[in-house]
Amino acid sequence: MKLDFQILDLRTKHAFNIARMKEPPTRRTVWVRVTDDDGVEGWGEAPATPFYGETVDTVAAVLPGLAGVLEDAGQGDPFALERIEAALAMHIGRNPAARVAVSAALHDLVGKRLGVPVWKLWGLDPAAAPKSSFTIGIDELEVMRQKVREAASYPILKIKVGTPRDAEILRMIREEAPEKTLYVDANTGWTTKEAIRLIPMLEEFGVSFVEQPVAKGDLAGLRMVREHSRLPVVADESCEVAADVAKLAGVVDCVNIKLAKCGSLREALRIVHAARAHGMQVMLGCMIESTLGIAAAVQLTPLVDFVDLDGAALLANDPFEGPGIEADGSLRFNDAPGLGVTRR
Ligand SMILES: [Mg+2]
Repeated sequence: MKLDFQILDLRTKHAFNIARMKEPPTRRTVWVRVTDDDGVEGWGEAPATPFYGETVDTVAAVLPGLAGVLEDAGQGDPFALERIEAALAMHIGRNPAARVAVSAALHDLVGKRLGVPVWKLWGLDPAAAPKSSFTIGIDELEVMRQKVREAASYPILKIKVGTPRDAEILRMIREEAPEKTLYVDANTGWTTKEAIRLIPMLEEFGVSFVEQPVAKGDLAGLRMVREHSRLPVVADESCEVAADVAKLAGVVDCVNIKLAKCGSLREALRIVHAARAHGMQVMLGCMIESTLGIAAAVQLTPLVDFVDLDGAALLANDPFEGPGIEADGSLRFNDAPGLGVTRR
């Protein structure tokens, strides 16, 4: 099996800011192609995220090494998914965006070899997928108001908070969208004290849950927020891989899986099952990524309670077409083999 990759430019419609950073409207992503000995190609995307230690340059730096591991561990057999993914993880440790691109490409390739979409290979029912939220990033109040108006067709909004003017933001959202389901994501932006003080305000605005109120490593803080709050608490930054779920049991109500954090489609499945074993709910999120990356996550959506897969919907230029979210937040699957993605 051969591995090639290409760096692509992405542009978001708006600057995308969250509590812990400002993001410019331009960014790069990595398109990975794995070709088997019969010439069948599988594709995956590496949405590198600096918070998790990766950039497009680190991805580009490790992929040639991963190509060698794929060659040795795969021995020409793309179906040896467990063996190959274990070897990739052993070779580079974290680097989850680089690894998930290879994982997605292998699942795409296996689906194409068998002539079935990945969701069907896993025995899943697209009708079970919940609707996706659409995210409103932090900005000047009137810019946020414009974003909410542009998102009129989406029934669920996810609001980024963690600013000194969170109450003002929520008030504006409720003026514009009195009936919509609202999720709130603080992206580690609050202290435990602030979270406990602010969550009753979120309740008044009819928010459904709060994501990552406090710092990534602050599990005691997360637990305390949950004990002092009626709103369910979701761990995102605090939950990267399946082994994190056990540490979060009893600490939060729900974990947010992202492929670019966990490093493989199979690890994402393990997180779902670990969370279920602890009676926890499961959310599936994304980075800013093209339809190629989103399509891999879409395959898993029938297994989760909350979906936040608007990464490609935030883009002004999407190089790919395939599974994703519709303008009403419903999930779009297709019957094409593998991930069902084509180049625009
Ligand atoms: Mg989040």
